[in-house]
Amino acid sequence: MKWVSHITLTATIAYAVSADPMCTAAAAVGAVLPDKIEGAPGSVGWSTWRSRHRGWSHWPMLYLALIGGIAHARTYFFYDTAFFAVLTWLLIGALLHIAEDAVCGKVPFLYPTQKVGIRLFTVGSFREYLFVLVCIVVIYAVQCLLRI
Ligand SMILES: [Zn+2]
Repeated sequence: MKWVSHITLTATIAYAVSADPMCTAAAAVGAVLPDKIEGAPGSVGWSTWRSRHRGWSHWPMLYLALIGGIAHARTYFFYDTAFFAVLTWLLIGALLHIAEDAVCGKVPFLYPTQKVGIRLFTVGSFREYLFVLVCIVVIYAVQCLLRI
């Protein structure tokens, strides 16, 4: 997915779940984190970037472990609940990025070398933006149903 799609869909999901603008902003930043860690083709060279594309930076177990570690260390280091929530939502944003990449290609799952996913659309295509729009409409509809 393009970053605009990652940010839009991740922020919509984060706000629907948290109803917190700060957590939503953190998730939106996390929505580009795996690609930022990976680096851009221009900065590391095309062949290097291609060989690392959707590698360990897109491994969900890494982010789950970090969330678990933060939750465990919360009582010792994160006295401020808002700081803990922002850090957690940053990592949740990264997890959502990986899930979103899994519907337009393959990403690691249980192991960094194990790749899973389906290709529902090509990155940057009209179908990608249609997919994001449909997801947002579904999220909005679910939110409306939950308020009844
Ligand atoms: Zn990615």
